Amino acid sequence: MTDSTTSLQTRSIDLLVPCHNEEESAAALLEALNTTIQTFQQPRDFTIHFNLIIVDDGSSDQTCQRFEQLIKESKEIKQGSIISLSRNFGKEAAMLAGLNHCEGDACIILDADLQDPPSLIPEMISAWLEGYQVVNAVRHDRSSDSRLKRLSSEGFYSLFLKLSKLKVQFNASDFRLLDRAAINAIAACQERVRFSKGFFAWIGFEQKNIYFKRPARQTGSSKWGSWKLWNYALDGIFNFSTAPLRIWSYIGLFVTSAAFIVGLTSVIRVLFFGIDVPGYASLFFAVTFLGGLQLMGIGILGEYVGRSYLETKRRPHFVIKKITKA
Ligand code: UDP
Ligand code: MG
Repeated sequence: MTDSTTSLQTRSIDLLVPCHNEEESAAALLEALNTTIQTFQQPRDFTIHFNLIIVDDGSSDQTCQRFEQLIKESKEIKQGSIISLSRNFGKEAAMLAGLNHCEGDACIILDADLQDPPSLIPEMISAWLEGYQVVNAVRHDRSSDSRLKRLSSEGFYSLFLKLSKLKVQFNASDFRLLDRAAINAIAACQERVRFSKGFFAWIGFEQKNIYFKRPARQTGSSKWGSWKLWNYALDGIFNFSTAPLRIWSYIGLFVTSAAFIVGLTSVIRVLFFGIDVPGYASLFFAVTFLGGLQLMGIGILGEYVGRSYLETKRRPHFVIKKITKA
């Protein structure tokens, strides 16, 4: 743990909010942030300075203008910037754009829709002042999510844990406090296909969990459909584990051994017992089954080759259209 409780009089914290079409959420978010900061019992020896960083991830509505206006009117958040990306690059790229822009001693990433309640911020900061360098907000109750979403998420995390051997915090979203050292570590992870939940576990550090009940979205609708979530889960597994590749060596070994035994049995039956081997059904089964296995193997190989291809191009993760200071 670092000795965060000593020395400095003023500490600065960036509040990082990735946004895609969140004009409807903006007012409620700013109000909640202002209320939290106002009531926040600051430790006697510290003044905490909050800086709001909105990353407008290619919104087609008035997200940027709305936040600019609200930050100007805000009582508690006196400083903010809106980073407008040139198109919708996705939440992962938006978070990285925000992290690259953070200059504070720590940063708190939160969603715009109040599903990451700003009322938890004081507890996160207290844990940080105690010396924890990563503070994870973990959902102990996800009744606002559908049963299918909860079950698939549980299945994914247990598989991810087994394959990657990384202690990814189950039921934690991206709602976290990151100390400067943790921000630098995550920003240093330069891969194009990004899975932040993996990075949060991979960087290590002293981490603390605080628990909360996840409320339903206040306004607007979720930008994460089932297909997007499925692809995100694949990114997580293929980015942090090569086990799906290795498994094919074992499948190959098993199938070859089984084929050898079946072949040997057939030869023995013909030679010693003179029994004719009925061919059609077994041949059909063997050809289709092996064909399917090979296609699956090629598909998995393709997942890795495709990702390597994306990495080799070394394109930037996002393009910034403009930065508005408010
Ligand atoms: N978001 C973003 N880019 C996207 C999709 C989402 O910046 O392409 C932001 C969104 O505005 C919100 C956060 O990411 O602040 C979480 O998105 P959402 O609430 O749709 O996800 P869910 O809570 O349903 O998982
Ligand atoms: Mg949400």
